[in-house]
Amino acid sequence: MTTVAFIGLGNMGGPMAANLAKAGFTVRAFDLSAQAQETAKSQGCEIAATASEAATDADFIISMLPAGKHVRGLYVDGDAPLFDVIIPSALVIDCSTIDADTARHVAAAGAEKGIGFVDAPVSGGVGGAQAGALTFIVGGSEAQFAQAQPVLQAMGKNILHAGDHGAGQVAKVCNNMLLSILMAGTCEAINMGVKNGLDPAVLTEIMKQSSGGNWALNVYNPYPGVMKNAPASKGYQGGFQVDLMIKDLGLAMDVSQQSASPVPMGSAARSLFTLHKAGGNGKLDFSSLLKLYQDKGE
Ligand code: NAD
Repeated sequence: MTTVAFIGLGNMGGPMAANLAKAGFTVRAFDLSAQAQETAKSQGCEIAATASEAATDADFIISMLPAGKHVRGLYVDGDAPLFDVIIPSALVIDCSTIDADTARHVAAAGAEKGIGFVDAPVSGGVGGAQAGALTFIVGGSEAQFAQAQPVLQAMGKNILHAGDHGAGQVAKVCNNMLLSILMAGTCEAINMGVKNGLDPAVLTEIMKQSSGGNWALNVYNPYPGVMKNAPASKGYQGGFQVDLMIKDLGLAMDVSQQSASPVPMGSAARSLFTLHKAGGNGKLDFSSLLKLYQDKGE
């Protein structure tokens, strides 16, 4: 029986761990939140008292944590670094969105102990995590990419190899910068249409079938009530927090600076989301950016 240690059972990690248990893996789950652990237990996971207990003897160790400092602390320089207990034949799969330098640093620290590591950030949101339909963007060697396949296939539909360690994270921030721009543009267009008397659902259908069609319009409409299952229709709860989008845009700005790649649209999107956070909206789903336009327009 293949054992998977799963660390970080939040909005994304919780349903991902549940899908692994459903697929027949033995999942040893750990989170700092007791409530997250309880949910995982009710979905077929075994609960570990510590991350070390989960990782000891596991074949795969998956982490889904907020940021680079949490990932570095978990594996390399925290109180009980997992690289001290993970067996050398195991593969570490970090699915968090973090900076590429940290991913490369953790990969190198694992390699020193003979432990394999891939960065495998995801796209597809909470809906994709629940449906087992995520896209994984993997950075690592060909052999590690192949080794990761069985577990990634239980949680996702598209498993893509971006390149060596860190490449998954670079591709991920390029994608999320584009997503932030698409969401801001979608909020801007719908708000303008509504202020001019259009029904948001009608305008959405028109734009979906026209040249403005995009992912936000298709599966993540920011206007409340247009799409029943979108966070906008649930008080912007759950989903992908404004705080996390701002984190990803910060990572994109770092990549832009290090490589002298101009990102004027990404910078504008980052300013908009930061302004929105300053209004006390950091914990809301990122599609709540619509409120910024509505408030300014009143
Ligand atoms: P979240 O805040 O819902 O979950 C993070 C979880 O990690 C929490 O339950 C927290 O208690 C736990 N945690 C933090 N430090 C820990 C530690 N040291 N040990 C054990 N558990 C710890 O966040 P999320 O939305 O699930 O996002 C996780 C990652 O996935 C982030 O890097 C985010 O950028 C990325 N991501 C999120 C989405 C999304 O739509 N939510 C989409 C793609 C990628």
